[in-house]
Amino acid sequence: MTMLMATTPVADDTPYPHSYERPPLPEGASWGHAPAHHAGGYVHPGRAVLILPGRPWPDSPERCTNDDPLANEWYGSHTEGEATILACRRCGLDVT
Ligand SMILES: [Zn+2]
Repeated sequence: MTMLMATTPVADDTPYPHSYERPPLPEGASWGHAPAHHAGGYVHPGRAVLILPGRPWPDSPERCTNDDPLANEWYGSHTEGEATILACRRCGLDVT
């Protein structure tokens, strides 16, 4: 009898066994594409670019040169004054 594998085909050494849960979006914002790399670094599957209305990003994650984790900004709901998403200042990638 063969045992069927019900698990998803991910690498065994992944530090995040569960799929990434995206933070709640500010009003009017949406998620863009989910890149495979950011500034030459690994991006956990599921992380995507934060799209803010009227706020285009100067770079795409693949071409982004921001490898400084402190050079990010918090974004969140203006009405509640609560920041929920940490995004790259240059490309808007969710690094929460
Ligand atoms: Zn970036």
